[in-house]
Amino acid sequence: MAELDHNGHELKAGLRFPWVAPPAAGETLEVAPGVLWLRMPLPFGLDHINLYLLRHDDGWVAVDSGLATEQSRAVWEQVLGGVLEGRPLLALVCTHFHYDHSGLLGWLAERFRCPVYMTHAEYQAIHVAPPQDDEPHWAFHQYYRQAGLSEEDSVAFLPLIRQAHFRPTPPAAFRRLREGSVLPIGGRRWQVVVGRGHSPEHACLYSAEDGLLISGDQVLPRITPTVGVSVDEPDGDPLRDWLESLDRLGQLPDEVLVLPAHERPFHGLHTRLTQLREHHRRHLDLALERCAQPCTAAELMAELFPRLRSRFDELMAIAETLAHCNYLIGEGLLVRETEAGVHRYRRVRSGETTGAPSSPF
Ligand SMILES: [Zn+2]
Repeated sequence: MAELDHNGHELKAGLRFPWVAPPAAGETLEVAPGVLWLRMPLPFGLDHINLYLLRHDDGWVAVDSGLATEQSRAVWEQVLGGVLEGRPLLALVCTHFHYDHSGLLGWLAERFRCPVYMTHAEYQAIHVAPPQDDEPHWAFHQYYRQAGLSEEDSVAFLPLIRQAHFRPTPPAAFRRLREGSVLPIGGRRWQVVVGRGHSPEHACLYSAEDGLLISGDQVLPRITPTVGVSVDEPDGDPLRDWLESLDRLGQLPDEVLVLPAHERPFHGLHTRLTQLREHHRRHLDLALERCAQPCTAAELMAELFPRLRSRFDELMAIAETLAHCNYLIGEGLLVRETEAGVHRYRRVRSGETTGAPSSPF
């Protein structure tokens, strides 16, 4: 039985959830005046994404669009003709390029001939296609070989990465959001707060007057958002970007109602940010400990993520492991040594100078 407070709000892991259940399929819940919470289905283990619909004059502004599937389109048809009472979408806002958020942007923008607001880096990222050919680029195989995985492993990842049938049709144009941009919607001023690390330039929307934060994937109540090194930027340091973003979000008031893209709206922003930081600190400590003896990212992954259940888990976990390694290299605590095309990570010994950075080649 869930623990409830005197308002009937569920208390869990230091967070407070005002709604114990999500809206039913095709229905919405009003989470603040003129702000509707809509759930869209996803055909994955994570089976849903939350969209938010903001009332504006005689129409609506949608934040995120859902995955490009027939099922999502059917929910949109139901919602447009039902709850939205036939009123049009006046604009779309996209938090970041991941397909569950951007999948139907193009479809909706064409239908309503409305503008799409997103950051520059996220708009560009929609256009970077994952490998589609039978024989992907050498850099793809190299990324996994350097991590200590076999070519068999990287080939097995391919179908997971392609997911061509989910590829969004990018909108033909966009209006740029930047850190601090303000969108006046429905009498509110929604201020853009940019986060990095989960995706290149993720936009959250913050309403100071009403204490609302549409957080996208930047802050989720239970899931730890993926922070991984991508094949197209193998020396990237997304965890540094991520931790810096958490600090910046921590400057927002703790009382905000967080409206996340997955699971349920909640109160307890600062507690959640602390939990997210601690999660990565634990992994960083563990990685340093294990790297007393040189090891590959694949070996380290088994240590950091001992309960992987599928190839997809492994795909995410290797990218996350590399994010922790690259962060520790940046801190001058690990060195990366290359032998026969495989990277091994080793803790810097006491007294050892690391003046020269780990070889980039
Ligand atoms: Zn995402």
